[in-house]
Amino acid sequence: MTGRGGPASPLPIADPRCRRTASPPRPRSRRGDAASWTDREGRSHVSTAGHDEGTGRHKVVIVGGGFGGVQAAKALKGADVDVTVVDRTNHHLFQPLLYQVATGILSPGLIAPALRRVLKKQRNVQTLLAEVGEIDLEAKVVRAAAPDGQRIDLPYDTLVVAAGATHAYFGHPEWAEHAPGMKTIEDARLLRSRILGAYELAEVSHDPAEQAAYTTFVVVGAGPTGVELAGQLSELAQHVLPREYRAIDTRKARIILLDAAPAVLPPFAKKLQDYTRRTLEAKGVEVRLNTMATGMDADSITVKGPQGEERITARTKVWAAGVQANPLAELLAKASGTEVDRAGRLPVDPDCSLPGHTDVFAVGDMVSTIDRLPGVAQVAMQQGTYVGKLIAARAKGDDTTPAPFRYFDKGSMATIGAREAVADVRGVKFTGWLGYVMWCYVHVMFLIGWGNRFGTLYNWVRSLRYARHRGHRLISVTASYDAAQDDRHARSVDSAHPHDPVEHRGDVDPRAAAAPEDGPARPAASA
Ligand SMILES: Cc1cc2nc3c(=O)[nH]c(=O)nc-3n(C[C@H](O)[C@H](O)[C@H](O)COP(=O)(O)OP(=O)(O)OC[C@H]3O[C@@H](n4cnc5c(N)ncnc54)[C@H](O)[C@@H]3O)c2cc1C
Repeated sequence: MTGRGGPASPLPIADPRCRRTASPPRPRSRRGDAASWTDREGRSHVSTAGHDEGTGRHKVVIVGGGFGGVQAAKALKGADVDVTVVDRTNHHLFQPLLYQVATGILSPGLIAPALRRVLKKQRNVQTLLAEVGEIDLEAKVVRAAAPDGQRIDLPYDTLVVAAGATHAYFGHPEWAEHAPGMKTIEDARLLRSRILGAYELAEVSHDPAEQAAYTTFVVVGAGPTGVELAGQLSELAQHVLPREYRAIDTRKARIILLDAAPAVLPPFAKKLQDYTRRTLEAKGVEVRLNTMATGMDADSITVKGPQGEERITARTKVWAAGVQANPLAELLAKASGTEVDRAGRLPVDPDCSLPGHTDVFAVGDMVSTIDRLPGVAQVAMQQGTYVGKLIAARAKGDDTTPAPFRYFDKGSMATIGAREAVADVRGVKFTGWLGYVMWCYVHVMFLIGWGNRFGTLYNWVRSLRYARHRGHRLISVTASYDAAQDDRHARSVDSAHPHDPVEHRGDVDPRAAAAPEDGPARPAASA
């Protein structure tokens, strides 16, 4: 098995297209590792999930059912090909609204419909739940692990890899413990437990200093995600929670948003940046610019800014600062003799194919293009559609050289709070209520399924406009306890390794060190 970023060496299989070959059992990988080839009883299997028993048609394997992968699959509707979409989750996640799950506005199901349902009308598509750990470009096989560890081999004629990105902690992987980021539904749920659990723990504390530590929230990174989260944390503290707690005044909660850059929403126009900063500050958010995190533990964060270094006591920290391409990018780069950039992104040719491999395409957050496109949903979607159409044309026998991929920038937007947002649509700038209505419209329309659209609208009207009530705040003693346990665990690990906190997070990609300002920029919520 190749681990994260390892070479694409073939597995010990005599003929990759012959199935059910016993490879030696290997230990199951830890959760989160790329793949494991044995089931819970330690048996080794190779399955194709019916993928190669078929029609004799051209086989397309798509790795990742996110924005890029789903659009590629949709563009292959009606094409004379068999498509297999393999993803390690069973849902298509609309990441731009994850922060609303983390702050109790939306339930996870509204932004994460089942992938099978999304693609159910497409008869030529099969969907598989499995984690891809290896891609053998020579044998043209994708190797994945099913939830029970069973190995699944997926032979392909054409491959599309759209595996997205993950967090980057700028050379401090140990910070992940203290400042989780938001990339998955699980991340958003964990964050919701930490945020709401912090208020619960403050309510039962008798120590004012401890109460203050629980009700201080620090968001690192003032891009769209950081701004949106800080705005909602303020809404919670100022408008949603005050009448519900007896021992604490939630309006005294501190929400700090910091960024090493000199402005919030760095890629937006200055007018929109200034509006955003003013609006956040009016909501009680402390905006600290030119300020970077230099240290972190379970109880605090140390920051360095124009006023020097300061240790802020805060139990809840959130990471919204950096991203790193999925490790499959490096795996593909090594296998094809190219090199990833500082943010781990795979360089692709103008038609999104892997250099030297016209049958392998990569799209979305995990790739870099000559025109340095931002890591936003629109880029991934448009690249996915482009690649899907290209494959469909080839399936029809059209082998002409395709026109290079061209990105059509529809605009950028970010919300700050209820009724406040900024939008830049092809140079025309909107703020306030108008920006907010535009933001709502675009985000609702990009959700998949009318049920989810109406459900989301209903929740917005209820949560943000009228009652300012959050209907999805479910946490439990276990959940808050887990969050507190995480804190305690982190504290004990910190004291056990005071000088070497990196040691216990060996599973985090060390390339994060190389990501600071060159990460796949996700500058904007694009329309
Ligand atoms: C919190 C947040 C907010 C955002 N807000 C916005 C916004 O407002 N506007 C905007 O335009 N963009 C936004 N983005 C960025 C946008 O979501 C991404 O640019 C987009 O998701 C990229 O699409 P993709 O297909 O490359 O990857 P993704 O959509 O991330 O899809 C990758 C898929 O690959 C799967 N996968 C990964 N590794 C494996 C593996 N080894 N095996 C099998 N499956 C695998 C994952 O489960 C996932 O389903 C936001 C991102 C985040 C995290």
